[in-house]
Amino acid sequence: MSKIYLSEGDILYSNRSTPLVKIVADKVGRHDFLLTPCSKDTFSIIYGDKKPHHGCEGNLQKAFLEQGLKLDGLPTTFNIFMNVELDEKGHIKVSPPRSKAGEYIILEAMEDLIVGLTACSALQSNNGSFKPIGHEIVS
Ligand SMILES: [Zn+2]
Repeated sequence: MSKIYLSEGDILYSNRSTPLVKIVADKVGRHDFLLTPCSKDTFSIIYGDKKPHHGCEGNLQKAFLEQGLKLDGLPTTFNIFMNVELDEKGHIKVSPPRSKAGEYIILEAMEDLIVGLTACSALQSNNGSFKPIGHEIVS
């Protein structure tokens, strides 16, 4: 079944329809898969910054380029713990994350991957607050 709120048991595919990652455990159950990563344009258009920084998109592009990978583009990212809701008219609202301290999501790679992680600095993406989120990569 197709859905926008991915959780336990769901698989994330590449933009070439290759299964990449399976969500094997998810104690939160709400993550965003609609919004693009923040970018220079995000900070210019939404926040009105006169000298916008490159945001998550720029961070990911730079990190992958340092690995010798030029990305096709980043139409969307899997935004773990980001709580984006739709109303009946299709309006998008970024609400406070549903996650609580100690809750987690476990992703299992289905093939060897280079994964980019970025801590978003956009106010709306973080509902106006910034808290550290831990991560661990186990092989
Ligand atoms: Zn961001």
